[in-house]
Amino acid sequence: MDKKIGVYVHIPFCKSRCAYCNFYSLPSSSVAGGGKLMSAYKAAVIKHIAEYSAQLDGYLIDTIYFGGGTPSHFGASRLVDILDALKKSGHVLLDSEITAEINPASITKDEMIRLRRAGFNRLSIGVQCADNTTLHNLGRTHTYEESVKTIKDARAAGFKNLSVDVVYGLPSQTAETWAQTIQKIASLKAEHISCYSLKIEEGTELYAFKDSPFIPDDDTAANMYLYAVDMLSRFGYKQYEISNFARRGFESKHNMKYWLGEDYIGFGPGAHSCIDQSRYSFTEDVNAYIEQVGLGRRIVEHDEDMSDFENAGEYLMLRLRTTHGISEKEYYDIYRLKMDLVLNLLRKYEENGWAVFKDGRWRFTPKGFMISNVLIGELLEAQTKQRTQISKPWQAQQADEDTQLTLFDKRPVAAGLFSGRRLVGHNKLL
Ligand code: SF4
Repeated sequence: MDKKIGVYVHIPFCKSRCAYCNFYSLPSSSVAGGGKLMSAYKAAVIKHIAEYSAQLDGYLIDTIYFGGGTPSHFGASRLVDILDALKKSGHVLLDSEITAEINPASITKDEMIRLRRAGFNRLSIGVQCADNTTLHNLGRTHTYEESVKTIKDARAAGFKNLSVDVVYGLPSQTAETWAQTIQKIASLKAEHISCYSLKIEEGTELYAFKDSPFIPDDDTAANMYLYAVDMLSRFGYKQYEISNFARRGFESKHNMKYWLGEDYIGFGPGAHSCIDQSRYSFTEDVNAYIEQVGLGRRIVEHDEDMSDFENAGEYLMLRLRTTHGISEKEYYDIYRLKMDLVLNLLRKYEENGWAVFKDGRWRFTPKGFMISNVLIGELLEAQTKQRTQISKPWQAQQADEDTQLTLFDKRPVAAGLFSGRRLVGHNKLL
C-alpha cells in the first residue's frame, strides 16, 4: 500500500528582514535583480522536484506546505508553477492540505483567487500582534488593519481554512496589549492560531536589546502564555501543541507529520527531509542551490540514519509537544523499550501540575508546556540512564546520583525558554 508523505517547499525571499528573525531568507534589499533570482530559483525547485519524482514512487502526497521566507513575496504565479510541478509528479492526492505562508499587504485579493483556483486551500498569515507601533519597531511591513483586510480578502477568495500567527514577549508588550491582541485575533475567526514565544537569537537586530527592560521578563511572558491558552479555549480554540490552537478538525495536518515522526520531503536551501528513518538537509545557500541543482549535482549537506534508540528519543521529544502525548504501550510496541524511569519522572511532574495521565497517555499541562525544554531534557536523560542500567549497571549508579542533584530543585522557568518558534513552515527541527 502507498505510504503518505508531506512536502515542504522553502521560499527563501522576503521584502525586508524583521528585527527578530534568524531564518534563512534573503531580503530584497540584499539581492540585485531580485525578480530574476526568484525566477531562477523557481526553475531550480521545479527541476529538483522532477528529479525526485521517481523516489516518490510508492508514496502519496497528502500535505504540501510553502514556507519561508515570505512565499507571498515570491508571487502567486511562481507558487502556482511549483505546485503544478508537484501535481505533475502524479503523487498528489486530490484532498491534500495545501498551505502557503503569506504576509499581510504582500498579496492582493486577485493573487489569492489565483492560489485558491490552483488548489491551495490553507493560508498561514503572519499577523504577529495588533499594535502598530510594535509591528513597526519589529520591522514588519504591514499594519494590523492591513492584516484584517488580508483575512477578509482571503475569505472572499474562497479560503475556508486560515491560520494566524501571533507572538508574545515582544518589546514593550504588556499584559494589557497582549490581551488585546489575543481578543482581537480570536474575533477574526480564523480556524487556527499559532502563538509563539519571542526568542531573541544572536545575529538578529533585536539581539543588541536582549537585556533591555523593554523586553518582558520570564514571569510576564509565562503569564502571557497561560492567558492565551485560557482565553483561546474560551473562544473555541483547542490547544493541540505547545504553540498551536485550532477549531475542531482544523489542526495543521502538515505540521502534525513533524510531531508524529511521519515522512516528509523538503525542497529548497536548508530544507529538511525525513524518509523511512533517514534524515537529510540541503545546503543553506540559495545561489549554490540553484547552481548545483542546475548541474545535477548532489546538494545534501547533512544526512544521518537514525538508530532505533534515537528514534525513541524523538518519539518522547516530539510527541510531548502535542496534547496527544505518549503512551507506555505505544512506546514498547514501536521500540521494544521500557520507560520505567521516564514514568517515574512523569509521576513527579504530575504532582507538580506539569503533566497529566489520561486514557492511558501522558501529556504536559500548559504549565508543563511552558518549561517543556527542561522537562524533555530530563526525560531524555532518564531514557539514556535506563539503557545504561541494562547494559552497564555500574555507570547507572553514578548517573543516578548526578541526576538526583539536578532534578526538582529547578525553579520553573518561563515560557521564553521553550523553543516555541515554528517547527515549520521554516522547517526547523527543535
Ligand atoms: S520573520 Fe518572516 S517575514 Fe520577517 S524576515 Fe523572517 S522570514 Fe521574512
